[in-house]
Amino acid sequence: MSAAYDTLLLIVADGVRPDVLREEMAAGHLPRLAARAARGVYTEVSSCFPSVTGPAYAPFMMGRFPASVGLPGLRWFDRARAVASWPSYARSYVGPEIRLLDDDLHLDAPTLLELATPSVAGSTLLGRGARGDRHPGRGWAWAARAFLPHFRGDLQGWRRVEQLVVDRVLGHLRRERPQFTVMSFLTPDKFAHAFGARSTEVRTSLRDIDAFVGETETIAARDGWLDRLHVWLVADHGHADVSQHDELADGVREHGLRVLSHPKLWVRNPEAAVMVGGNAMGHVYVELPHRQRPWWPALDTRWTEMHDALVTRESVDLVSVAVDAQTVRVSHATRGSARITRSDAPSGAARDGSRTDAHRWSYRFESGDPLSLGAELHEVTGDEAWAASARGDYPDAMVQLADVVPSARAGDFVLSAATGWDLRDKFEPTPHRSTHGALHRDQIMVPLLLDVVPSRAPQRSADVMPSVLARLGLPVPGGLDGRSFLG
Ligand SMILES: [Zn+2]
Repeated sequence: MSAAYDTLLLIVADGVRPDVLREEMAAGHLPRLAARAARGVYTEVSSCFPSVTGPAYAPFMMGRFPASVGLPGLRWFDRARAVASWPSYARSYVGPEIRLLDDDLHLDAPTLLELATPSVAGSTLLGRGARGDRHPGRGWAWAARAFLPHFRGDLQGWRRVEQLVVDRVLGHLRRERPQFTVMSFLTPDKFAHAFGARSTEVRTSLRDIDAFVGETETIAARDGWLDRLHVWLVADHGHADVSQHDELADGVREHGLRVLSHPKLWVRNPEAAVMVGGNAMGHVYVELPHRQRPWWPALDTRWTEMHDALVTRESVDLVSVAVDAQTVRVSHATRGSARITRSDAPSGAARDGSRTDAHRWSYRFESGDPLSLGAELHEVTGDEAWAASARGDYPDAMVQLADVVPSARAGDFVLSAATGWDLRDKFEPTPHRSTHGALHRDQIMVPLLLDVVPSRAPQRSADVMPSVLARLGLPVPGGLDGRSFLG
């Protein structure tokens, strides 16, 4: 006899493009996933900026955009000297510092792993709430297993480590049936970087996910809880072809500055920090001795020249600066500049207690329309802001930029790379034929598979977190960026 609670399995198909998953299901290669989708819906939602593993887990694990919970990027400079340590005060979640990510998150924003217990996280980059054997894939023993495959670029070796994590997660499902299980498959992203996001290698790796769903269903059927099992799938970011690599840190050095950037962290009196992750997004921090970020109008005028040089750099698409805590100026080399403002919603207008509902967004041309929205917008809701950009080149960019650019841990310049480019050339263990991190549609849009019919169209990956809680019959906390798409 099975206990009276449901189990939701959330699969993170790291870096899987919506079109690739759709094609593989249609071709009959993913029968269990296709069967789940047939009961519910298969659609696309926007992720967040930066569209990169780690930060882009915050929306579906916490219902929050990453910068708002302290994750402005895969790499960032700790201007406040609050969490990162001497001498560099730089953070990189690529490598051993991944273990620090959970502690860098703001404590007042809970994760699904903390709210839907018992919970288990397999290889999940944001895992606060799942410790020890509840987080297979995390910890020194697992890092030792993954070390050689990562640095040798041995992707099949990586895949074998991932299968060990799968076995541990299946063990938990067999023994104790967690209420919430998240399993992240990172192999598709690694194959996408090395071989291309639409490559045979990526497509074949999706069969590991389908097999995992099948094994979970077998366990649930044998133990009598198959009707209480829900399987959903989401991704953290998309992927886009890249053929040109700029070493942005060298570009900033050309201005005669001493530049801190990974892995060159031993720099005496650095004048700028360049933190690229994704690799199609980057933060550039200046005036580093200041422990609080200066807003753009207060920055020394010498940085105006740097701003204009970044805007016209071939590898760069959009450059954003924070005019104040509510206002972002975003610029493109030929389409000009515009201002994004996030203001408080009129009192009494909020319907559901979400953070999104508490705000309004405006977009005003300064010298043009860098986000190609086609029109100015005046104090629109989160729904309207999403709809205005959902079919364009930069889905949800207005909302995302308003969140990350003025955030305490962001750079003074926030860069999104041009199509076909990324912003790191050296120091990568595997070749990058495909990239992500930027605001482009291909990198922002992600698949969402549900085995239930939603009561409204899902918009953002942040909507997944409150919807998981609703599906499990658990209370949804206030102040989220996402809103449940279940009734
Ligand atoms: Zn990646």
